[in-house]
Amino acid sequence: MTAPQAIRATNKKNCPPLQSTKRKSRAPNQTVKSAPGVNAAEPKEQIEKVFRALDRRNAGVVSAQAIIDTLKKNGILIDDPRIRHSILKLNSHTGPVTLAQIADIFDANFSLIECAVKDRYIVPQFSAFTGEINNIFDECMQVKDGAVADYIPQLARIDPEQFAVAITTTDGQRAAYGDFDTPYCVQSSCKPVNYAMALEQHGEEFVHGHVGREPSGRGFNELALNPKGLPHNPMINAGAIMSCSMIDPEMPLADRFDHVVQIWTKLSGGSPPGFNNSVFLSEKATADRNFALAYFMQEKRAFPKNTNMLEALDFYFQACSIEVTARQMSVVAATLANSGVCPMTNERIFSNDTVKNCLSLMYSCGMYDFSGEFAFTIGLPAKSGVSGALMVVIPQVMGFAIWSPRLDELGNSVRGVEFCRKLVERFSFHNYDNISNHATKKDPTKREAQQRSDQTYQLINAASLGDINEISRLVAHGAEVNAADYDGRTPLHLAAAEGRLEAVDYLLLRQAEPTAKDRWGATPIDDAKRHRHPDVEKRLRARRAGLCAAT
Ligand code: GLN
Repeated sequence: MTAPQAIRATNKKNCPPLQSTKRKSRAPNQTVKSAPGVNAAEPKEQIEKVFRALDRRNAGVVSAQAIIDTLKKNGILIDDPRIRHSILKLNSHTGPVTLAQIADIFDANFSLIECAVKDRYIVPQFSAFTGEINNIFDECMQVKDGAVADYIPQLARIDPEQFAVAITTTDGQRAAYGDFDTPYCVQSSCKPVNYAMALEQHGEEFVHGHVGREPSGRGFNELALNPKGLPHNPMINAGAIMSCSMIDPEMPLADRFDHVVQIWTKLSGGSPPGFNNSVFLSEKATADRNFALAYFMQEKRAFPKNTNMLEALDFYFQACSIEVTARQMSVVAATLANSGVCPMTNERIFSNDTVKNCLSLMYSCGMYDFSGEFAFTIGLPAKSGVSGALMVVIPQVMGFAIWSPRLDELGNSVRGVEFCRKLVERFSFHNYDNISNHATKKDPTKREAQQRSDQTYQLINAASLGDINEISRLVAHGAEVNAADYDGRTPLHLAAAEGRLEAVDYLLLRQAEPTAKDRWGATPIDDAKRHRHPDVEKRLRARRAGLCAAT
């Protein structure tokens, strides 16, 4: 089964140390100070086994490069904060590494190598997966439609050709393409963070006493409030100004901003974001609509008591002017995918409930008035920004950051949306792919061989039940009719044994083999005979005779 939900629920099969850092339920808001993989008491036998797997020539030593390559192949990069210390030790080490040395070098985070060797990361065949992402990136590079935002000169001047894609999985596997180290303004993609911070500080009830949770069906800066005089949701401008008004309202503005920067730093695994002062100044100078929205909300008494509305607005412009690279943003998205725990540091930043609320609203409202269409076709929580930023979350699996400045008429990055379209065409990431279509799509959380055997198993199962609809669906999606399970049992064996004549006919029409032998040497004909299905047996014999006659 390639059902994403099922995978998300059950396929978290990481090595024990990683598992213990992220899968165990932890009290909301509990902060874990140590890095993931902290594993002082890794059993000696485990270390030995892993070492032996790395020591392919059985030489009693492995090269430092072989260790780094094994990690890299799995998307664990050398600037990963979890292994920074080990990489330093490894770099200062001369000569190959022995068993005792590897245990010392990777003392606290041995599980990262263990998962690499045992293929236990959430995306086990990471290079194959990223190879396909690279193809999608190249295809999207050809898209030149749209235009950069020009409401402020700072955005209008951006090189429209720039394009970056970065991925971080919930296990901290990373890859990035294009201009992934170029900083860009987060703009509206700060809205989920503002909302999450407001939720953390005040709880759902208070926050939603001041902002709705319905899609507005209007543009992101439409001068409109809901029938209660509140912003429709936190993912459009009015709602984001409202979120900002609720973040540390009692503190001086400078401290409020410091706090936001601190959260962005933690969300992105420890690398502080930048701030684009000219964008900020320009935003503020040309913000008639945002001022109008704020005054409108003030007139409707929508803000919490004692809100300094003008300060909240300023704070909102500042939050929009925060700059990140795609690499950093993908870690932010992965932190949301990982229920609020940053995969690069294992620190809990937001509670599970906060993340659940945030992703729900990103799903229904994150793409301005394209949100319904995006939820329908892409089926993932996402948030865009007028800088061409797009953050996409695949819950329990990974986060994507896409950045390409040319926008469509609704304000979403053209390449960003196209990238998502292609992504869900190839991978079973759509929220409801478990219901249909998934057999043709790849599930990167499974090894390919496992996916093939899943499909074979499904076909065998459908054949034994005589479920023609399911059989034809699977065949249409590329299931192999003569594929056999571990015991050499084919769909035709099962259909014959259960006396499913219609299924037998269907399979024979598609060249199923009536003389295929299972591991005990039995053919579908033998099965039909043994289980007393003379009509099936007759059909199979006729086919065999036909085949014999034909050859
Ligand atoms: N700073 C922009 C504004 O408030 C952000 C909007 C956006 O990214 N859609 O208008």
